[in-house]
This record gives sequence, C-alpha cells and structure tokens, in this order.
Amino acid sequence: MLKRKTAIVTGSNSGIGLGVAEELARAGADVVLNSFTDRPEDHALAADLAARHGVQVRYIAADMSKAADCRGLIEKAGGCDILVNNAGVQFVAPVEAFPTEKWDQIIAINLSSAFHTTAAALPGMRLRGWGRVVNIASAHGLTASPFKSAYVAAKHGIVGLSKTVALECAGEGITCNAICPGYVLTPLVEAQIPDQMKVHGMDRDTVIREVMLLRQPSRQFATVEQIGGTAVYLCSPAADQVTGTTISVDGGWTAL
Ligand code: NAD
Repeated sequence: MLKRKTAIVTGSNSGIGLGVAEELARAGADVVLNSFTDRPEDHALAADLAARHGVQVRYIAADMSKAADCRGLIEKAGGCDILVNNAGVQFVAPVEAFPTEKWDQIIAINLSSAFHTTAAALPGMRLRGWGRVVNIASAHGLTASPFKSAYVAAKHGIVGLSKTVALECAGEGITCNAICPGYVLTPLVEAQIPDQMKVHGMDRDTVIREVMLLRQPSRQFATVEQIGGTAVYLCSPAADQVTGTTISVDGGWTAL
C-alpha cells in the first residue's frame, strides 16, 4: 500500500518509534530511522528491517533537541512523504522543583522538534500533492497527571500543532493528526516492572493491573504494533479525510 513512499520516523531506534517503522515497512514504505546516537547497532537495526521487509531503510543520526538537526534530518533524507514525529523524553517532579533544563529539554524534543521537521517536510509534500504527518502525542495530550508539567504541556502543544498544520494543508492531499497512546509496553516500561513488583510486594500481573494500569480501564497495555497499525491506517486512503484530529489508543483512559 505504501510502496514508493518514504517515511521518516524520529526517535525510532527503540520502543514505539521502532514499532511504527516496522509497520510502515511491512506496508511497503521505505523508512528512515533516527535517534541522536550513531552506533553500529543503530545502523544494524536499519539493515535488519530492510532485509525482513524488502524495502530501503536508512539510519540518520540527528539530535531532536536541536532545531538545525531537526531540519537537517529532513534535508539529509531528501524529504519524505510520511513524517512521524515520535522522539520523546519524560521527567517527573513538582512544578516548583522542576529543573529549568529539564523543562527546556522536554519542550524541545517532545514539541519544538515536530515544528521544525514539519516545516522542513511540508514544501516537498506540497510539490508532490500528498503527505502524512503523524504526531505521537499521548493520553497526556488530552488529560493531565501531577508532576508531569513539561510532558503534559508539550503533548497538549503537539495536539494543537497537529490541528494547525491540518488546517494549513487542508485540500492539498496532506493530512496531519496526533495518535494519543495510553500506557504502551515498550522496553522502557518493561524495565520498570521488576522494580514495581519489589516496591509493592506484588506479582507481575497484579503490579501491572493494580499499579501501572490504574488509569487504563482495559487494564491492558497498548502495544507498539497497535500504535504502528494506527499510523498505517492514517497513511491509507481510508483516512484521506481524517485530519486535524486525535486518535486515542488508550484502553479507555480518556473516556473516564
Ligand atoms: P523510548 O524511550 O523507547 O523511545 C524514545 C525514542 O526517542 C528513542 O528512540 C530515543 O532514542 C529517542 N530520543 C530521545 N531523545 C532524542 C533526541 N534528543 N533526538 C532524537 N531521538 C531522541 O520511549 P517510547 O515509550 O517508545 O516513547 C516514544 C514516544 O511515545 C514518545 O514521544 C512518548 O512520549 C510517546 N508515548 C509513550 C507512551 C508509553 O507508554 N510508552 C505513552 C504515550 C506516549
């Protein structure tokens, strides 16, 4: 379905970004993987994905906390048809104790990077008359939790950016939407489970259900494959008129 389309996925050497890249490659897209590191294993990920799906995959290192790197990524890739803004970090502290450098870093990586990459990618999409911008927001783009001020502000911001870009491109074959995942089982989240089991004296299933997924009514994690599948849907003809909106993949979190 996505043959001859090129997709750039920021922050895609692990977790949701890698899962989205996998599903886009499975659908036939050529893919550009990215993170701020430039290790042999990053390039090996690209070679593995290419071999398994018979598509072209490159890894381009670029630091999404830096405006010039964000714009440089799009330039080095030679533009793209599909842009998935996924790179993101988290830090948790009360507002009055939130370190300024952490606030600046989260706003830069989780929000400003999407502005810079989108601005750089849109001219090429307009020339070709087709484009998809998919922003990985969060349930925290629609609701808040205490101690996550920068993350919640950035994720609400990216929902607003998605709507604005959608309006500016309406009728040009270019859509822009935000996917809002709840808790997704990524390696990062998986690594927290043993600690949580120890702290709460619970077995794996109980700590997942009663502690980690307290706000997710399904009491089940979303998976990276499901987020990837949602991104593929947004790139499909069925979603041609889906623009400027959010799609929650959160087991009912935001319905509460
Ligand atoms: P992750 O830590 O596995 O992935 C984050 C990715 O961003 C990694 O590839 C990392 O290398 C990259 N990254 C970090 N800083 C970067 C920088 N300066 N430049 C370039 N790349 C950088 O975490 P994840 O859970 O897969 O998160 C991916 C996205 O999904 C984030 O935007 C996150 O906010 C969002 N999200 C995650 C969950 C969840 O439960 N895991 C829920 C909702 C939203």
